[in-house]
Amino acid sequence: MVRSDTEHEDKAMTMNATTAPTATGTGRLLAGRRAIVTGSTSGIGLGIAEALAEAGADIVINGLGDLAAIEETRQALARRFQVKVQFVGADLAGAAGVEALIGEAEAAMGPTDILVNNAGIQFVSPIEEFPAAKWDAIIALNLSAAFHATRAVFAGMKARGFGRIINIASAHGLVASPYKSAYVAAKHGVIGLTKTVALEGAQHGVTANAICPGYVWTPLVEKQIAEQAAAHKISREAVIRDVLLAAQPNKAFATTAEIGALAVFLSSRNGASITGTALPVDGGWTAH
Ligand code: NAD
Repeated sequence: MVRSDTEHEDKAMTMNATTAPTATGTGRLLAGRRAIVTGSTSGIGLGIAEALAEAGADIVINGLGDLAAIEETRQALARRFQVKVQFVGADLAGAAGVEALIGEAEAAMGPTDILVNNAGIQFVSPIEEFPAAKWDAIIALNLSAAFHATRAVFAGMKARGFGRIINIASAHGLVASPYKSAYVAAKHGVIGLTKTVALEGAQHGVTANAICPGYVWTPLVEKQIAEQAAAHKISREAVIRDVLLAAQPNKAFATTAEIGALAVFLSSRNGASITGTALPVDGGWTAH
C-alpha cells in the first residue's frame, strides 16, 4: 500500500480498517515533524521543546534573554536529542515580530507541522491600579501573538493536510482570580481562538487545542510570588500555601515535563480526533 503523506488522507484511507489505532509507545513519535515553540528559552516552553525534540521533531525555539545562554540551550537540545534546533529571537509583542518568527523559522527549517503558542507574561494588580500599558502588553503577547502565528501557518497546514496548533492557555482560561484582569481575559480569549481554529481546521487534518496548566514551577511563577506578597501584604510562604496552591487540590506544582508530554501526545497521530478542547493540567483546581 502506498502510504500517503498526510494524516487527513491516511484517516480516509483507513476508515474501514479493522486494526486499532497505534499505541503511543515510547518511540520517536514525531520523527520528521517540524515544530515552532514560542517563548521556549525558559519554563514551560523549554519543557515542551525538550519533549518534542525527545519525540524526534526538529524545533525552532524562540524567546528573550541572554543570547549566550540561549545558544547553550539550543546546542544542548540538538546534541541530547539528535534533532535540528534553530533559534529565532523575534519579539512577539507585535504582529510584525510574529510574522518574522514564522518567516525565519520556515526559511530555516521548512514548513511548520506543529505550532505551540506558549510565550506569555503576567502582571498582578488590583484593577483600579492596573496600568493600561500592562493590559495592552499582556493582550498583545498572550492572545494576539497566538492569532498572528496561527494565521501565518494555517494555510500551509491545511494545504498539506496536517497540522497541530497547541495554545498554552491556563486554568485562568477557565476560571478567574482577583488582580489578574488582563491575564484572565487573554487566556479566556485564547480558548475562544482555539475553538474557532479547531472548527476551521477540522476537515483539513489540522487540530487546535489549549492546554490549561494550574501552577507550574517556572520563573514566571517565581516572579508572581513577590508581586502577590506585595498585593496581599503577606509572606512568601503564605503566598505559596494560601494563594498559589490554595485552589489546587493536590497541593503540588505541575511540572514542565508533564505539559511537554501532553503536547507530544496532541502532536502525534493518535491526537487526531482531539480538537477544540481546553485540557486542564491543574491538580483538580478547575474541578471545584
Ligand atoms: P516564563 O517566564 O518562564 O517563560 C516565558 C517565555 O516567554 C520565555 O522564554 C520568555 O523569553 C518568552 N517571552 C516573554 N516575552 C516575550 C516576547 N515579547 N516575545 C517573545 N518571547 C517572549 O513563563 P512560563 O511560566 O514558562 O509560562 C509560559 C506560558 O505558560 C505562558 O503563556 C503562561 O501564561 C502559561 N502558564 C504558566 C503557568 C505557570 O504556573 N508557570 C500556569 C499556567 C499557564
